[in-house]
Amino acid sequence: MTRILTGDTPTGRLHLGHFVGSLENRIALQHQHETFVLVANIHALTTRAADPAAIRRDTLEIVRDQLAAGIDPERATFVVQSEIPAIAELTILFAMLLPFSRVMRNPTLKAEIISKQLGDHYSFGFPLYAVGQCADILAFRADLVPVGEDQAAHIEMTREVARRFAQLYGDVFPVPEPLFGRVPRLPGLDGVEKMSKSRGNAIFLSDSADDIRKKVARITTGRQSPTDPGDPTNVLFEYARAFIRDEAHVRDLADRYARGDNLGDGEVKRQVAAAIDALVAPMRERRAQLTDARIVEILHEHTRRANAVAADTLAKAKDAMRLAF
Ligand code: ATP
Ligand code: MG
Repeated sequence: MTRILTGDTPTGRLHLGHFVGSLENRIALQHQHETFVLVANIHALTTRAADPAAIRRDTLEIVRDQLAAGIDPERATFVVQSEIPAIAELTILFAMLLPFSRVMRNPTLKAEIISKQLGDHYSFGFPLYAVGQCADILAFRADLVPVGEDQAAHIEMTREVARRFAQLYGDVFPVPEPLFGRVPRLPGLDGVEKMSKSRGNAIFLSDSADDIRKKVARITTGRQSPTDPGDPTNVLFEYARAFIRDEAHVRDLADRYARGDNLGDGEVKRQVAAAIDALVAPMRERRAQLTDARIVEILHEHTRRANAVAADTLAKAKDAMRLAF
């Protein structure tokens, strides 16, 4: 049986990018594969060290979002990073296997330094989080990692660590494969950056029908009239393709849009907002049933399951490294 590990950082709630990039695959695969879903609350400290209450709140919200979206707590295991000491120990061990210059060349880190405007003020822990992500994945000896395209560089680094470890100490870790989602990079409402919790360009899985309508209405396409030829690759149509599930209908809309055949942005926006609402409305209902107390109860149980696996991995790694006495 393949083992899956994936996860999110509690820097906000989950959005549509998470859904099409990774969450949809987690929901589909949890029944055939042993699935671990990490909430990276230690990594959230890289940008939110001054706001521990917000990290705690979003940790619960991210779990709630996923239970509402269809993660089954009887099948999948949530992993709260701060509760799994083996991950921290493996991070230190893996940090010894990666050249410092290699970590700093990681393109995902570089992109985040720019997009999160970190300048040269980021903590020592910021680049270390990329090493920590190798430990998150390898602690569970995962074979498959469902992620969005922005995570490709981190998975590549994880593969390098697994291979290097095998060369030096023996075979403990599988070399994991990334699994990209149906839409590997959903753009944000701005149409430029990827949809991201930290950029104010996201539609959240927990948004109301009214929020969704207003956010979709804000998308700018630069088009003036329903008879102007439109660009069917703009962000509005990326959303149409991602969320309106009748492909023939979307193809027809795109043709009419491109020809300027009396199809206004307003009408496309109405259909896109309705399709997004149809996706998240059942989640909104399920989320309302989930109390904090129930979520904490699930996390306690899952922490026991997760620690059993991660502690076993750490013991194997230390044994291979002749560190066990
Ligand atoms: P932050 O802005 O704090 O980095 P984020 O929105 O990028 O937050 P993460 O927690 O970093 O979210 O990402 C969690 C998972 O969701 C990763 O697998 C990532 O690749 C995927 N993901 C995030 N945004 C998108 C997107 N716009 N399209 C597709 N996948 C995405
Ligand atoms: Mg991110």
